[in-house]
Amino acid sequence: MVENWRALAGRAPGAVCGAVVKADAYGLGAAEIGRALSRAGCGVFFVATPAEGAVLRHALAAATAEILVFDGDVEDDAARYDRHRLTPVLGTLEALARWSRHARAQGGRRAALMLDTGMSRLGLGEPDVATVASEPDRLAGIELAFVMSHLACADSPHHPLNAGQKAAFDAMRARLPAAPASFANSAGILLGPEFHYDLLRPGAALYGLSVVSGRANPMRRAVRLRARILQTRIVDSESPVGYGADRLIAAGSTLATIAMGYADGLPRALGDRGSGRIGGTPVPLVGRVSMDLATLDVTGIEPGLIRPGCVVDLIDDEHDADALAAEAGTIGYEILARIGRRVRRIHRFGADG
Ligand SMILES: *Cc1c(COP(=O)(O)O)cnc(C)c1O
Repeated sequence: MVENWRALAGRAPGAVCGAVVKADAYGLGAAEIGRALSRAGCGVFFVATPAEGAVLRHALAAATAEILVFDGDVEDDAARYDRHRLTPVLGTLEALARWSRHARAQGGRRAALMLDTGMSRLGLGEPDVATVASEPDRLAGIELAFVMSHLACADSPHHPLNAGQKAAFDAMRARLPAAPASFANSAGILLGPEFHYDLLRPGAALYGLSVVSGRANPMRRAVRLRARILQTRIVDSESPVGYGADRLIAAGSTLATIAMGYADGLPRALGDRGSGRIGGTPVPLVGRVSMDLATLDVTGIEPGLIRPGCVVDLIDDEHDADALAAEAGTIGYEILARIGRRVRRIHRFGADG
């Protein structure tokens, strides 16, 4: 993970490389990951909510890192932003007005502005930017940390919206006071130097996810997900397995039931479609995924590897989060972000992180 951060930073020597650790660092543990990245020299972090920001600030303790909050509408909690030294990312004129009022009262505060350049999600649109440009007092008290926008289609390098959003970003920035710019998420970094600007915002690529469709994933896989076998049985006559009894297992098959289900983030959509691996050999999930359990057909696997207590790899370097996601009809991001709280996280950052 730290290696991925360094590799991404290395692609943009002129830019600062931040790290997106929202959603508990995509399900992996924002406190531990934040600390490891901070030790490696990362000084800018992004979270989604002020609550996530508070947790991260506590984890980083003395570090001077800047923590930016994407959902930076500071309606009732300006004091919380101050207490945890959080910088809001403001995306509406109302949020800007509230933070400006607070900033003036406190003798100045930092903020980032999010511009909507074609994603129609969060951010100031063209008319809002025109308003701020003609009424500069709207920024009173605010030190612009960054002006940002977010790419909708960076995972498709040839999509025309990438260049369109960049042109819109440049045009809108030109109307605002000069400030460092931030545009690229993971896939945006891979689009090339003209998308890098001053501050990179990678999330998924740090965690080893594939971020560009149709291309080999250049990042180091950073996640393993393993489940313990609770029970193994040899089916002596054709039998149904799991809820609904809609999957029949042939006589003579060996089944292993693992202590992991949809409450742990193993998607229910994987029923009869997903797979794990035992000692590197793929084993299919059979029957429905339950809340706490799932069953695999382990016929033919060496008995020593399928005893209760042995482990099944659901995510490893060969069958990575994106591969599991494809079996479930989703993306690796969703698989990682939904890994349940019951799953014990073990962090190994290696010598350099
Ligand atoms: C989540 C997010 C990112 C990180 O995106 P990845 O594709 O995970 O690199 C960057 N910027 C914004 C605004 C985001 O919401």
